[in-house]
Amino acid sequence: MQIGIDLGGSHIAVAVISKRNLVVAKREKNIESSENIFDIKQYIVDNIKKLITQVLKDIGAPSCVISKIGISAPGKIKNNIIYDMYNLGIKEFSLVQILSEHYGVEVVVRNDAKCAALVEKKIGNLKDYDDCVFLCLGTGIGGATFINGRMLEYTKEWGSEYGHMIIQKNGIECKCGNKGCFEKYASMKAFKSGIINLLNLDSNISSEDILEILLNRVNEKDREISKYIDEYIENLIIGISNIINILGPEAICIGGSFVYYEKILYTKLLEKMNLKNYNGVKPRILLAKTQNDAGMIGALIN
Ligand SMILES: [Zn+2]
Repeated sequence: MQIGIDLGGSHIAVAVISKRNLVVAKREKNIESSENIFDIKQYIVDNIKKLITQVLKDIGAPSCVISKIGISAPGKIKNNIIYDMYNLGIKEFSLVQILSEHYGVEVVVRNDAKCAALVEKKIGNLKDYDDCVFLCLGTGIGGATFINGRMLEYTKEWGSEYGHMIIQKNGIECKCGNKGCFEKYASMKAFKSGIINLLNLDSNISSEDILEILLNRVNEKDREISKYIDEYIENLIIGISNIINILGPEAICIGGSFVYYEKILYTKLLEKMNLKNYNGVKPRILLAKTQNDAGMIGALIN
């Protein structure tokens, strides 16, 4: 029995995953900022153990039936150690070692964007393409590259860091140390904070509320909003064009919270991309099919 763990910036999800990559049972826990957490790593380990116990109980199985554990985590992975989970304030985390010693089984860890990409390639909208790219537009921009049907896995921990491709000389400063990175202009975080500034909204506004406001304004043909969306799409297209020119993929699939803005952003992106020509290459621009459970499933795909 396989256990998939999704470690997000603000929640932990644990599921029993079948051999056919289906979620059999799932339990989740939000990491509340009000919880007054003394040791975040210990808190995560304790909650993962609790969730595993609960999820096995849900299906009436003892813990000795676990055969493998897969973890999807933000940040960089090197030698099974997770580095730079900025949103959780963790610099280095040996979660793999802790869980493998506790459960006595194989534990694997993979970057969350790569997990989502593998699921999209195996059972989602990229399954019919050999040469393709997955872009995860969320807090930052993560991604993965597939050539001849296989994901490029680098010997070093770095690779397919599309978010840090520079699209603007002397542009906005990025936490990676450079200026003008793609994700500072085209991530969903960048998109949303621009809207919040433009419309003077409360900085804690939910994504659902932003979406509703945008849909109304777009329907009313609000010029300020249209101009902002056009500029966002143009920046997104610079990054996508660079990827197309370098890799010439058959398809590029976009996941992350961008998917929820299909009517406002994806339609506009397709409209503008249709006018482009890249030496005769015309990749399909797709939206991700799998959403919330992609991390947990992807962590266990070989
Ligand atoms: Zn950067």
